[in-house]
Amino acid sequence: MAEDQSMEAVIGLEIHVQLQTREKLFCADVVNFGAPPNTHVCPVCLGLPGALPVLNREAVALAIRTSLAFGCTVHRRSVFARKNYFYPDLPKGYQISQFEEPLATGGQVPVRLEGEEVPHLVRIRRIHMEEDAGKSIHDRFPEATAVDLNRTGTPLVEMVSEPDFRTPEQVRAYLDQVKRTLEYLEVSDCNMEEGSLRVDANVSIRPQGVTELGTKTELKNMNSFSNVEKALRVEISRQIRLVAEGGQVEHQTLLWDERAGDVRPMRSKEESHDYRYFPDPDLPALELSEAWIADLREGLPELPEERRRRFVSEYGLPEYDAGVLTAHRSLADYFEETVEQTDDPKESSNWLMGPILGLMKERDETAAELPVRPKGLASLIELVDSAVVNRRVARQVLEKMAESGRGGAEAPSAIVEEAGLAQISDAGQLQSWVEDALAAHPEEVARYRGGERRLQGFFMGEVMKRSRGKADPGEVARILGQALKG
Ligand code: ADP
Ligand code: MG
Repeated sequence: MAEDQSMEAVIGLEIHVQLQTREKLFCADVVNFGAPPNTHVCPVCLGLPGALPVLNREAVALAIRTSLAFGCTVHRRSVFARKNYFYPDLPKGYQISQFEEPLATGGQVPVRLEGEEVPHLVRIRRIHMEEDAGKSIHDRFPEATAVDLNRTGTPLVEMVSEPDFRTPEQVRAYLDQVKRTLEYLEVSDCNMEEGSLRVDANVSIRPQGVTELGTKTELKNMNSFSNVEKALRVEISRQIRLVAEGGQVEHQTLLWDERAGDVRPMRSKEESHDYRYFPDPDLPALELSEAWIADLREGLPELPEERRRRFVSEYGLPEYDAGVLTAHRSLADYFEETVEQTDDPKESSNWLMGPILGLMKERDETAAELPVRPKGLASLIELVDSAVVNRRVARQVLEKMAESGRGGAEAPSAIVEEAGLAQISDAGQLQSWVEDALAAHPEEVARYRGGERRLQGFFMGEVMKRSRGKADPGEVARILGQALKG
């Protein structure tokens, strides 16, 4: 039998993404997460007899944008089909989806692991549109399950990958990239906790070198990317152990139990023929014009991978900076607006990757929400550049900008003025602080003169203290150097 080390995992992902439309996929009910239960429903999404679905054009546009962004071929004709199953949160008894003729097929997603310069491509098998089901709520009443049908009929795309992953880390990198791309496209808010992005992971194992696929299990119920990673690790080990002990992997659906940190069986898996798919007789085939598809392609924004490459070539940034800055569209926008003003990409990047990301984290805000605006940051960088304040004081000014909500171009110099923070370069003043510092520490002066050059830093600190951080460090270093020579 194969040794543990010689087994490899094979993983394929199905991702459901809620499209950010105002209305549902086939009716005019408003999509509204968190609204009182069962207040956004109508005969169409409830599936009452005789109600007829009408396709939402906005949802189709978003689905096409998504498909194009992942390099898929968008088909001129696709077909909505009924997927039949019974569930309390599905009063119609079927979900409208696409099956044999999906909206789009054959795309790819560039995926980079940390530190890899060249992305590897994960193939996308298909992207299709479908409606969401309602929600069964198990923790609202002690003895009963409640059903909220507000979500019924919300537009989704399902994105199915080929089984191109071998490790949970690759899966994580792919999910980050997919989410980032969806964010750039502004097609979904991708909020996993609210269920706008849901990941099902299919996993099998096989001996290294074998090309046939093993029997897979399907993992559900992971509500964060790190849970997807954890669940995969647990399930891969379980399968390897099972096979090593002479057992066989059973084709089934498993639920991730976050609290237990383990997976447990939900049901043995139905096959697609169990759903008795057939074309929905109430909906004509979806026929798209070449012109509309071309328009939507034209309207695609620059995507994360392109933007990252441009940040390297246009601004001369290190790969690492480019990756961090383009991880979120609003951060990348922030950076570009800042550079437009400062004309100093690396310095701007340092400010973003350090203090600005720090502020965002501390305040739990995106770059777009931060009260300090790019123009404000750019003015601050210019104050440092022209030696009005040193870096340390500039950090304080930044804090004050954020606290006071004054983040515009005028704010930094106004704050420096008000708080008396301007850097002091006056030679006479600096000289007297230096002399004072030396007089207070004769022993250290002697040690310095005896060869302990590292004490320079100590004296710098003493002078800065006396200036309350406002002394021009370059000037201090020069004057201090002279004075210490004696
Ligand atoms: P199902 O009919 O069970 O839904 P599909 O063939 O439609 O299975 O594939 C669903 C997902 O599972 C795809 O992402 C695919 O890449 C992945 N997948 C299929 N077979 C395997 C396998 N043996 N091991 C791992 N992933 C697989
Ligand atoms: Mg499937």
